[in-house]
This record gives sequence, C-alpha cells and structure tokens, in this order.
Amino acid sequence: MNMLEKLFGRRLPRGPTNLSDVFFKGTQVQGESHYHVYAAPSRAQALAFLRDKEVKEQAVFVIAETPDGSIGRDLTVIFEEKTGRILEFGKRKQLAQPQKSDTHCATCGHFLFPTKITPCVTYFLSIEELKEKGYGFKCGSCQAELCAYCIKLGVEGQIPACLLCGNTKAIYQAG
Ligand SMILES: [Zn+2]
Ligand SMILES: [Zn+2]
Repeated sequence: MNMLEKLFGRRLPRGPTNLSDVFFKGTQVQGESHYHVYAAPSRAQALAFLRDKEVKEQAVFVIAETPDGSIGRDLTVIFEEKTGRILEFGKRKQLAQPQKSDTHCATCGHFLFPTKITPCVTYFLSIEELKEKGYGFKCGSCQAELCAYCIKLGVEGQIPACLLCGNTKAIYQAG
C-alpha cells in the first residue's frame, strides 16, 4: 500500500494506464544490443507503458517485466519476450518538423532497414510485413524516406502522395 492508500485504509482503484507504477530497473548490454528493463505491476500497465515508449533505433529493446511474464518493444513491434510472438504494432508519433534523412523516416524519425532487394525480382509485401521488417519507401521526386507506418495508402491501385513534397507522380520504391 502507498501512503494515500494507508490514509484511506484501502487499496485505491488503479487504471491500466497508471504509468507511475512502472519503474526503471537498469540497462543490460549484450554485444550491440541494449536492453532497457522496467518493472510493471501488471501486463495491462506494461502494455500501456510500451505503447507510449517509442524505440527509434535498431538493437534497442525496452523490456517490461510483469508478474505474468515480460513483454517488450523494439524498433518495429511490441512482442511477448519468451516466444517473440507479436502482440501489436506500436504507434509512431509524428516529429514536430519533418526531417529528411537517408536512414530514418522523415516524418517520425524511426530507423529504416535497407531492403537489399535484388533488381529484376518483383516482391509483394503486405503493409504489416513492411512494418514488421522495418522497411520504408523513398519518394522518387524529393528523395524523402518514409516508413510503412507513416505513408498514407490511398485507394488500392493508386500511388499515395508523398507526405513531404505532395508529388503524386513520385514512385515509391523500397528505401
Ligand atoms: Zn515514419
Ligand atoms: Zn516527395
């Protein structure tokens, strides 16, 4: 019980988004990877915490330990730590000002994995697969890189307008 609860003589109801109950335990480094470990009193609180905690770089993991197992967030998804099962795609907040970069999305600042797609081979990936793999798009007109979370897909069969230059003739290519 905390002080307020002692004062009221009972446990106060806690909403699932009470993030003040989540506390930082420490950072573990394994090779290139950084694991920022937190403790959360419940899975609901851990999930609410991870939804708010963006990871913008590769090899960075935020882990929230709960009495019912740990869940984590990396650059691309929120996942079950034990099995690696994807729980959901986290949302990405827009930067106050778009920033063009060769490696990160211009509108949310998340790192984009190079696709290394072989020329002359046609690939079809769903938007979920693009999100999971951390791939993005490059505007053929202004060269801005945009992630699969940020591009606004229009009507099927239509090329979406670039969020930066607005060019609808620009060809999005794997970035
Ligand atoms: Zn983005
Ligand atoms: Zn553009």
